[in-house]
Amino acid sequence: MTDTNPNHVTCPQKRRTGGRRKNLSKWRSHKLWKDLVEAHAHAPDAECVYCLKHHNELRKNKFVYLTINHKSRRLYESEELHSTWNPELMEICCTVCNRQIEKGRIPCPVCHNVYISVFDADRMCRKCFYDANPKLKEIHDHRMELIKISQKNAKDAAKKKEKERLKPLIEAKKAKDKAFRATLKKGAKSKGIGKVK
Ligand SMILES: [Zn+2]
Ligand SMILES: [Zn+2]
Repeated sequence: MTDTNPNHVTCPQKRRTGGRRKNLSKWRSHKLWKDLVEAHAHAPDAECVYCLKHHNELRKNKFVYLTINHKSRRLYESEELHSTWNPELMEICCTVCNRQIEKGRIPCPVCHNVYISVFDADRMCRKCFYDANPKLKEIHDHRMELIKISQKNAKDAAKKKEKERLKPLIEAKKAKDKAFRATLKKGAKSKGIGKVK
């Protein structure tokens, strides 16, 4: 069982995290924070700085929720720092982008739809990159075509091999069935049933 009581945590780092989480949930229940979110993230013209979506806009059948992202850990030092608008160290961000950013991913700055690594040297998603580089797209498409053909060939060869493997088994089964039918016929003849004379 996990011990969730912060007083029982002996590691100072963990104790600090536990204390900060406790503060955070307290601050976020206060009017000061709620008013800040309403005024900045839920204003009619507010949009996520990364994916440009608005609050309550639909994305893949889910409503976008805009919130305020703290760009510096220093803002967690006091409620005043945490809940007072600071355009230098705060940004409007949707919860999806917020989660992705924590993982080191941002939306493609061109289409704003696909998340890419912040370390991606192309600085955009693959589709947007190839749209912007038609020469490279041609090479890419050609390579894809070759891969498709070789995959189809491999599939056909596997199918043929399987058919060849099954062929003697099917033949043997057919022969066995034929022999069985012949025995039945023979048996019927010797008992005098079958053909009417
Ligand atoms: Zn977003
Ligand atoms: Zn893109």
